[in-house]
Amino acid sequence: MSTTTDSIRGHHPILEMLDRALSRSRLPHALLFSGAAGIGKKRVALHLAQCLFCLQTPADELSCCRTCDSCKQMAAGTHPDLISIECPPDKNILPLSLIIGDDDHRGREGVCYEMSLRPMVGDRRIAIIDDADKMNAESANALLKTLEEPSANYLMILIASELDAILPTIRSRCQLIRFNRLTQEDVAALLIDQQLVESEDQAIEIARLSAGSLNIARQLLDENLQSLRGNITRLLSRHPFQPQAFSESVIQAIDDVGGNTAAQRKTALWVIKFCADFYHQSLQCAAAYQAAPTAGNVESFVAGLPGETEDRIETIGNLLSRMLQTEEQINQNVTLPLCIESLSQDLREIQTK
Ligand SMILES: [Zn+2]
Repeated sequence: MSTTTDSIRGHHPILEMLDRALSRSRLPHALLFSGAAGIGKKRVALHLAQCLFCLQTPADELSCCRTCDSCKQMAAGTHPDLISIECPPDKNILPLSLIIGDDDHRGREGVCYEMSLRPMVGDRRIAIIDDADKMNAESANALLKTLEEPSANYLMILIASELDAILPTIRSRCQLIRFNRLTQEDVAALLIDQQLVESEDQAIEIARLSAGSLNIARQLLDENLQSLRGNITRLLSRHPFQPQAFSESVIQAIDDVGGNTAAQRKTALWVIKFCADFYHQSLQCAAAYQAAPTAGNVESFVAGLPGETEDRIETIGNLLSRMLQTEEQINQNVTLPLCIESLSQDLREIQTK
């Protein structure tokens, strides 16, 4: 992964703060990066590590040359003084073995052991502990022992999206750095930079639904979700609205993900998000703000609503608030098919009033 500043978007206040800390030799030995998933926390951590390891640029500034051996090793992910761990995708808890070694190598492997070693190349070792909020108490307590013995030879960067899940004892030993969500412009630019989209319009479209997270944007690029979205939008824009066709399509999409209820809820929440986005754009269109360039069905939907502009705005407002209500219900674990059927009936009723 490249860690040049060019590839970091939206976190310039944090980069400046780190730069100031370096110039005053006041970088703490432990940092805790907190903020939503998929906004670039790890990218900043890797960039900081690269700047500290760089053999060419001064140690008191946040910069790197990208050409020295250390920079090349960072780009290749092979720097011997960087220890980087994260929770495997199939696990909910960061394995204890990554912190203190497995049963056969307890205390002779893992982050705590690695951080007790002398630096191999430069003057320090750096650990990046992603998903630190997924440590159990045993892992956290093991890590705490290392954090309690600060050394000029090491830097620990903990990364967490759920700050509340970090033990207060850990938090108190780290300097907390809060990351903001990315703007829609930043997400769109990253999608284009990383060649994840086919056009600028698609980038803007995806970014709008991403909640400022590149992770969410990546999920949205999934073909199945894209076709579900197209389908939902078509059904919503129909006049008259057909509740049965809508609920059947949504329930089918939920069934298609299999028996896992968490995955079913996630799909249901995507549907609600797509609907809310459609109505939101319709609201803007009705109020004569500019509709988004790719919102093909929006204009015909708005034009087909009965009444004057004010009536239309009121209707769309009611549709939108019914969506928010459904989102709450889904988060409260209601029975999905019932919830969707009642939503469908209400959407028709609101539109025929
Ligand atoms: Zn360098």
